[in-house]
Amino acid sequence: MILCRDKAKEYEGETPMKYRDHPIDECRKTLDEMLAINPMAKAFQKFTCNNCGDRLTIDVPNKFFSSGKCDKCGHITDIKKHGCNFMLHLPRVMED
Ligand SMILES: [Zn+2]
Repeated sequence: MILCRDKAKEYEGETPMKYRDHPIDECRKTLDEMLAINPMAKAFQKFTCNNCGDRLTIDVPNKFFSSGKCDKCGHITDIKKHGCNFMLHLPRVMED
């Protein structure tokens, strides 16, 4: 599994160390709904390391993993237990 640290913090606003995570099943369901509306949507799973608190993004689109390894401390977080979120990439809408 490839993990990358990204600009997620920029999108999360002014709440350091406190991220909103949701049950993984809920995220999958939300993504399914979004894909039904926009099949070109791409979601990247995000989770918080249970050890060091780092915010991580998995760079495999539209896939939710039940656990993830921290690229900072190497800890494997049980995402199924702690929840996750995702960043959504939507393709540009043609305007002309
Ligand atoms: Zn960590």
